[in-house]
Amino acid sequence: MGAKIKSVMWNGSGSLARLGRRSLTRGLVTGGSGTGPLSDNSPHDARRDVLGPRRVDRPPHQKALRPGARQETLREANLLLITEEIFASSAPLSRADLSVRTGMTRSTVSRLVDDLLAAGIVREDSPVIGPARGRPAVPLRPARKTLAGLGVEVNVGFMGARVLDLTGSVLAEAIVEADYRDSDPVQVLHAAGELAVQVAEQAVSAGARVVGTVLALPGLVASDGRSLLLAPNLGWKDVDVVELLCASVGRAAFGHFVTVVNEAKLAALAVAQELTEADGQEQTFLYISAQMGIGSAVVIDGVVEAGPHGWAGELGHMPVEPSGPECNCGSSGCLEVYAGKHALLKAAGLGPAATAGDLMQRVQTPGHGAGDPSEAVARAGWALGVALSGAMNVLDVHDIVLGGEFGPLTEILRPLIEEQLSRRVLASPWAEFRVRESGIGLAPATTGAAMRALRAVVEAPQAWVPAR
Ligand SMILES: [Zn+2]
Repeated sequence: MGAKIKSVMWNGSGSLARLGRRSLTRGLVTGGSGTGPLSDNSPHDARRDVLGPRRVDRPPHQKALRPGARQETLREANLLLITEEIFASSAPLSRADLSVRTGMTRSTVSRLVDDLLAAGIVREDSPVIGPARGRPAVPLRPARKTLAGLGVEVNVGFMGARVLDLTGSVLAEAIVEADYRDSDPVQVLHAAGELAVQVAEQAVSAGARVVGTVLALPGLVASDGRSLLLAPNLGWKDVDVVELLCASVGRAAFGHFVTVVNEAKLAALAVAQELTEADGQEQTFLYISAQMGIGSAVVIDGVVEAGPHGWAGELGHMPVEPSGPECNCGSSGCLEVYAGKHALLKAAGLGPAATAGDLMQRVQTPGHGAGDPSEAVARAGWALGVALSGAMNVLDVHDIVLGGEFGPLTEILRPLIEEQLSRRVLASPWAEFRVRESGIGLAPATTGAAMRALRAVVEAPQAWVPAR
């Protein structure tokens, strides 16, 4: 099928620091079951956690230390605590550091670290001799090419699969461009399943083991985490997407669970990781994912807030002009009919295969062909500004990160958006708006999906420790 397969090593900080944080996402998916071949002693917790992470206000070790806690629960909680410390730390920690941070004895820490080494969750770096005399400290870091997450995405203009290991390195990936507007979900998901398995096999031949799979789709996902309710631009409705993804290739290659999550929320997860690394602190922003449709995700202090059903962020269907043109969703005058890729290109006199770069060129060198590119962009910017003003008046979030097709248009869209924000957001005299480009590259939701799958490891490390 002409899949372009390439392997790219990502030179991140060497750790998906965000994996070490609790509450990575709230309300993405609310329950249900994965579909993996889990045996009775397999990671039930991993499955539950990847679907609906908990928010825990008290550190788990305090909870575990309460009288009467079962020995096994105590060990699991301590293992979780150690894992989170290692993944959340910007500098590698030694066993001694972990002992200080957690209040556990050095020997307890050492036993737990041995488990994590055996599970392939952490690795030991070269020993460092400190200023004090004594044993050199052995820095502990997330393991390379051991446990891996598989992210799969089907969007309107492409499908992709990407495997990440616990350091955030891409072990294998493939992106295939195609037009999936009003497509047949059976055919497309079979193809996506095959692509995903090819990519997973590459990662496995590099020595990794796929723990689980998350599928990213541009639409509303059911709370069972396995079916899609509606994706207007794909033309899909009530589809058991997890079943179809695995149907032609079997479940084995997908790991212990397969679940589906909205594309914009997963992209925001990858963007949050990137921004946190760049700025050194947790970010609060509204991420806009512009493909054929327009999705968004609210990120507060690094946590993707998706609402109780995971349905928040449908910015594309925010009414901009209630009496405006009809939208794919059945309503009218939605943001998408002014600023969605299809609408934008059509108004600019460009064909559906044109890119944001082509549009930029038409704006800079006008005067020939049908349509009015400058007017098309001005209208899209106006509509975006109006919709975002509505969002900001409700949300008190003033940073906007433009992703997908909007990324390259950021410079021309920014003043148009800001004009509406300063006019329509009540708090605008006091708020500082920032409109920036995500700059994260192709198919960020595929990366976010792989990260989401890996979360199962960090949230339930005991499930991956081999039996002694
Ligand atoms: Zn709509």
